[in-house]
Amino acid sequence: MFVSEDLSVNEKNHLVIGENDTVELAKEFGTPLYVIDEDLIRKNMRIYKDAIDKYYDGNGLILYASKALCTKYTVNIAKEEGLGCDVVSGGEIYTALKSDFPMDKVYFHGNNKTVEELELAISAGVGHIIVDNIYELISLNDIAKEHGIIQKILFRIKPGIEAHTHTFIQTGQIDSKFGVALENGEAFEIIKAAMELSNVKVEGLHCHIGSQIFEVEPFCDAARVMMRFMGELKDKFGLTLDKLNLGGGFGIKYTEEDDPLPYDEYIKTVSETVKSAAKEYGIDIPMILMEPGRSIVAPAGITLYTVGGIKDIKNVRKYVSVDGGLGDNPRYIMYQAEHGAVVANNAAAKPEEFVTVAGKCCESGDLLVENVKLPKVNVGDTLAVLSTGAYNYSMSSNYNRIPRPAMVAVSGGIAKTVVKRETYDDLLRNDV
Ligand SMILES: *Cc1c(COP(=O)(O)O)cnc(C)c1O
Repeated sequence: MFVSEDLSVNEKNHLVIGENDTVELAKEFGTPLYVIDEDLIRKNMRIYKDAIDKYYDGNGLILYASKALCTKYTVNIAKEEGLGCDVVSGGEIYTALKSDFPMDKVYFHGNNKTVEELELAISAGVGHIIVDNIYELISLNDIAKEHGIIQKILFRIKPGIEAHTHTFIQTGQIDSKFGVALENGEAFEIIKAAMELSNVKVEGLHCHIGSQIFEVEPFCDAARVMMRFMGELKDKFGLTLDKLNLGGGFGIKYTEEDDPLPYDEYIKTVSETVKSAAKEYGIDIPMILMEPGRSIVAPAGITLYTVGGIKDIKNVRKYVSVDGGLGDNPRYIMYQAEHGAVVANNAAAKPEEFVTVAGKCCESGDLLVENVKLPKVNVGDTLAVLSTGAYNYSMSSNYNRIPRPAMVAVSGGIAKTVVKRETYDDLLRNDV
């Protein structure tokens, strides 16, 4: 069984996160409960930031991809750690605004930003907008003109790189809804069009090749392709771009089989690649941006549940049902994603049987962890599902009218609520 090195077990045989006993947390705050280790979030942010300083002479900016876990609390940590912020919707822009995030360090993505969202971005002073398509470009230029500003933009490019990951989280290939392609000239055309517009300024290029990627080569390949294209833009249009945003997607260890690189390795290798490509294509070394989301917050989060019914179906499988499910963690139903699990009140016990942890929603596919080896599980146990910091709360829903869990942040033995548990009245708030 895989248990993260950031978790430990105390003398009561209880799982501990951020020096807090998880069984006590479950008692105090109730279950299901998202628990986030604040020190680990900060540590992960610093690894990336320090790597840019060390390997790229500080000529870069790490953007926290807030969609992984977008709350005022996490966006605030990114602010305190000196990161920028990657947002993908009006709601995420609004969260950054309400967190007093320096809006000039906000980068706005998305393949179909609405006019209202573009207006919000411009009036909020979002520093850079990553333009996805020609319709957006024209509408953005009009809105910027109305506001009397020149909006700095990057373009979302499909570099034609296939990363080895789940097809739903692969984004760099030509058959993708995101961005403009290189191989059919689309990227050239949109940049040419932008150069003729009065209220946008093209500052750079962006690509994001996918998520939960374990190799550095796809990032280097993408960097080289993008740098070659920058060289071509310089030759063809005399255009000098000084920003290269290579996206996020760095993999994390969900299970024993996952073997991610240390995060600074990505930055180191990519930095070297960009520098040597600059020489090769005769262009200046650009500022680089990276947008990790999952790798910052996923390992820092666990979810605590209480075990209810247990069904041992002879020669089939044993289901252990818990008081949450796809509403708070849709990763299994979306991607058959895997997570580790620990019986939090018997954390050091030897695993002895395979069970499938099921949620309480009315869907047979509502599983949280399939075939995980655990010690004997009993009704009333506290079960911890691991590495749930990313794409759990941010993808959560109220399916079956189940209120979303609370989120507590832990550090040095102290736990504080950072997102309140929803109430039944919250569920009815918009019903008229
Ligand atoms: C989702 C996304 C990210 C973050 O990806 P992770 O896998 O969470 O690191 C970064 N940039 C863009 C444009 C994205 O869409």
